[in-house]
Amino acid sequence: MTEPSEQQILEALKCVVDPDRKRDIVGLGMVQGLRVENGHVVMALQVDPQRGPSLEPLRKQVETLVHKLPGVLTASVVLTAERPSPPPQQQRQAHGHAHGHGHGQPAPASAPLLPEVGAIIAVASGKGGVGKSTTAVNLALALASLGKRTGLLDADIYGPSMRRLLGIEGQPGSSDGSRLDPMEKYGIKVMSMAFLVEEETPIVWRGPMVQSALEQMMRDVAWGPLDVMIVDMPPGTGDTQLTMAQKVPLAGAVIVSTPQDIALIDARKGLNMFRKVDVPVLGLIENMSYFCCPNCGHRTEIFGHGGARAEADRLGMEFLGEIPLDIVIRETSDGGHPIVASDPTGEHARAYIAIAEKVWASIERSIAARTAKAPRIVVS
Ligand code: ADP
Repeated sequence: MTEPSEQQILEALKCVVDPDRKRDIVGLGMVQGLRVENGHVVMALQVDPQRGPSLEPLRKQVETLVHKLPGVLTASVVLTAERPSPPPQQQRQAHGHAHGHGHGQPAPASAPLLPEVGAIIAVASGKGGVGKSTTAVNLALALASLGKRTGLLDADIYGPSMRRLLGIEGQPGSSDGSRLDPMEKYGIKVMSMAFLVEEETPIVWRGPMVQSALEQMMRDVAWGPLDVMIVDMPPGTGDTQLTMAQKVPLAGAVIVSTPQDIALIDARKGLNMFRKVDVPVLGLIENMSYFCCPNCGHRTEIFGHGGARAEADRLGMEFLGEIPLDIVIRETSDGGHPIVASDPTGEHARAYIAIAEKVWASIERSIAARTAKAPRIVVS
């Protein structure tokens, strides 16, 4: 069956009415970035940022309608925030961005993102497959085991993995009727694009959509007060990662690397990226550091040993610790029971917890440094 044209989709969408403005969403110009590729349809609905949270039913309605059209295999619709046009009576400072990215550009943040989160930490890697997500999830669980109220934001919009790694099923609800509740598993709060779009949906994001999706996962989710939030970044050190590093108010970043030299070169790129945006790099974690034989427990240094520690020293980064290449880590993580949750007193969990302690100490140091610099407010 042939896929519908963009025009045909727009025709079909003309029967969807914006609940507040009582006009059809096509006539209102809300449909943006419509793309049809091999039966996969993606689009954004441009909405006023204030109305974003209440328009989830509209988003769902559009997605369902498009999905039902003949020839459509998957439909993925995201809400995107429009720059608010200044009210006519009070033409205060117009939000003009000389270098604006056109439609879909999220509104300039009116309120700080995640004000109730003590410290937001990015987990990044120079390239994919080094175990960044596995490290992020175990680090989050380790921080929770230290008694910290912990959130985990899966910012890997292109390849979200937290549903699988934590074995989370279902969709997030909304207790206050406007913001989504994060999912909860093993004592941590989690949000991932995988909870919001259909499984197997190939997400063809445009830059501005990525930003607004990420922003929605911060602004429109009722995270509540947290001591720490771990952000699982997309792999790599390209423009997207740089934008994200700027978008999220990060307290610091940790870089995951494998011992091979090539990965260390990538790790260096990661370090430079965070330095560019003034985010302190808290340190380097060496993953798949050595091989633990599952039968005899013998330790083999497949890639040589100490490379990451030496490199961290050389680059002036703290070496946060090493995690072996062990089938148990792979099985537990791919099976939805990360090792820190499934064997919290075991050797591997202890290694992650030791890393979490170092990360936490490092955050406390940087918070103390920031507080010392901040002007003192005296309440008399
Ligand atoms: P990334 O996020 O860097 O792409 P993942 O965390 O998805 O990497 O890990 C890639 C694969 O490697 C997964 O199958 C994961 O279970 C496995 N893995 C990660 N770390 C380890 C480890 N220390 N020992 C064994 N397998 C690991």
